[in-house]
Amino acid sequence: MGAGTTGRAVGVVVLVLAALLGTAYVLGRSLLPDRPGSGRGVTAGVHETEYGDQSGGTDLSQDTPDRAEAGQYPDGHRAAESPADGLFGSRVTTGSPEVALTFDDGPDPQYTPQVLEILREFGVRATFCVVGENVQAHPELVQAIVADGHTLCNHSWQHDVQLGRRSPATIRADLLRTNEAIHKAVPDAPVAWYRQPGGAWTYPVVSVAEELGMTPLHWNVDPSDWQAPGAAQIATLVAREAGPGSVVLLHDAGGDRQGTVDALRRMLPDLTSRLRLEALPVDGAT
Ligand SMILES: [Zn+2]
Repeated sequence: MGAGTTGRAVGVVVLVLAALLGTAYVLGRSLLPDRPGSGRGVTAGVHETEYGDQSGGTDLSQDTPDRAEAGQYPDGHRAAESPADGLFGSRVTTGSPEVALTFDDGPDPQYTPQVLEILREFGVRATFCVVGENVQAHPELVQAIVADGHTLCNHSWQHDVQLGRRSPATIRADLLRTNEAIHKAVPDAPVAWYRQPGGAWTYPVVSVAEELGMTPLHWNVDPSDWQAPGAAQIATLVAREAGPGSVVLLHDAGGDRQGTVDALRRMLPDLTSRLRLEALPVDGAT
C-alpha cells in the first residue's frame, strides 16, 4: 500500500465532507428568511463583530438588502482583495515614503482615547476617518485628535456603505453634513480626505468628494482588525505588509477594538524603527 492509495483515500474523505458541507449550506440558506430586515438580524447575530459598532447605522439595515455586500462592513474586504477594481482613482498609498496609519469609524469614547495615548507615547501622528454622527456625539474627542496633531478624514455621516449608489445631491449632503459636524467641533481643522464606508467607491462618490475638496482615500494594508482577530494577528500582518507609502486600515470604533489598541502597542516599536509614520497632509494629495 503506497502513497497513491493513501492519497485516494484522503481524496474520497474530502469529497464526502465537501458534499456534506454543501448540503448543510443549502439547507441553512433555505432556512434563512428572505426579508432583508430579518435576514440581517440573523447575520448580525452570527457575525456580531462585523456590525457591533454601527451605532445608528439604522439606514444601513434598510438600504442593504444584499447580505453579502453588507458583510463587507465596515471597510470593504471585497474591495481590498481586488484593489485594481472599483477604486475609481481613490488613493491607496501615501505617494511618499511615509506610512499613514488610519483609524476608522470613530470617534469612540472607549477606544479613541487609548489610541491617542499610545500614538502620543510613540510620537506618531495618524489620520482619523470619522463618522459624522459619532463626531456629533463626541466633539471633545475630535478636539483631542486634532490637538495631538493628527489629521481628519470624512467617513460619511452614518457609515452608509451604499452611499455611492445614491444621487450626487444625497452624497453631497451627507459629506457636507459630516464636515459641518467636524467644523462645529474643530472650526479650523481641514478635512482633506474622504473615505467611502466599505471601500465601496463609485464614480459619483469620488466626484462629489473631489468637488468638495477632499481626496478619496482607500488603503493598501488591511489586517481586518474589525473582525477582531486578536492583537497578535493584527500586529503580525501590519508588520509583514507595511512598507514605504503604505496606507494602513485600522479601526478605533465599531465594536470591540481592544485587539487593535493592543496591536498598536506591539507593532509600533518595530514600525517606528524602520518606517516614518506620519499623518496624511492637510492639503490632501499633492
Ligand atoms: Zn468604516
